[in-house]
Amino acid sequence: MSLKNITVIGAGTMGNGIAHVFAQSGFTVTLVDVNVMQLEKAMQTIEKNLERQVTKGTLTAEQKKQALANLTTQSDLTRGVAHADLVVEAATENVELKLKIFAQLDEAAPAHTILATNTSSISITKIAAATQRPEKVIGMHFMNPVPVMKLVEIINGYATQKEVSDSIVSLSKELGKIPCVVNDYPGFIANRILMPMINEAIYSLYENVAGVEAIDTVMKLGMAHPMGPLQLADFIGLDVCLSILNVLHQGFGNPKYAPCPLLVNMVTAGKLGVKSGEGFYSYTAGSKELVVSKAFTK
Ligand code: NAD
Repeated sequence: MSLKNITVIGAGTMGNGIAHVFAQSGFTVTLVDVNVMQLEKAMQTIEKNLERQVTKGTLTAEQKKQALANLTTQSDLTRGVAHADLVVEAATENVELKLKIFAQLDEAAPAHTILATNTSSISITKIAAATQRPEKVIGMHFMNPVPVMKLVEIINGYATQKEVSDSIVSLSKELGKIPCVVNDYPGFIANRILMPMINEAIYSLYENVAGVEAIDTVMKLGMAHPMGPLQLADFIGLDVCLSILNVLHQGFGNPKYAPCPLLVNMVTAGKLGVKSGEGFYSYTAGSKELVVSKAFTK
């Protein structure tokens, strides 16, 4: 299966990174978003990130130029997928929205097109059921930031064909990534293991076993993690962590996945981590220093 023309749906944090790595690897990329401003912003981000690679010496100026030439933007989904061999959907994490997008993609894309989703937590099998081609629907879960992170977690839905899975594995290697194939159960592998760890770190804080800095330092120095679980939760977004824990809790019906009440309270209070300026740490614009939130230094 030759996959040359790639369409990425959603030009946010993940979509611009996914478009970047495909364009840099020589694929023809169409980046689609309903929000035209977001498309402009994404192109600026890609340009800036490619320039950073040139400065570092990992890309030549000519390769940067070629990568940008491989990219076009489109605000109309039907037009955007007309020539796609593969669609990678990276729109907002919302079940109803994804089901609607996949029904649209199924109508508008050629019959041979593989439909992949970058969802962090929604069932691939459920998304596939919104189409008439569930055998060609697959999870292609990139990690943030996409140009830097090596892993692609490939998730086979209940009906995904082996040929489709194999071609996404080969394609991921062409992008310079390391693919891992897993089956479709709540949280897949990455979030099934990561989120309970983050939840346990929050429980340790809630039960006053230790403070924010001690918890993160134990995991950084003791387990050689590049960042502690509480800092990582702030980076991912506490609302995102809560919603994935809810998916695990509901999906398995096992109380071990129940989100910590402190996490629920923080999200309700609008303390979402880096994106809201405060979570377990405080983030003031321009400051590189990690400062524990006042809520946890009393
Ligand atoms: P984001 O909010 O940054 O971007 C989502 C984009 O989708 C927005 O630009 C929005 O305008 C666009 N969009 C919404 N509806 C659309 C539609 N109908 N058609 C086209 N575009 C539409 O979100 P994100 O963080 O980039 O996440 C995207 C996906 O990637 C989600 O499924 C998320 O779970 C997954 N993911 C996120 C991360 C992460 O760290 N942010 C990591 C792995 C996977």
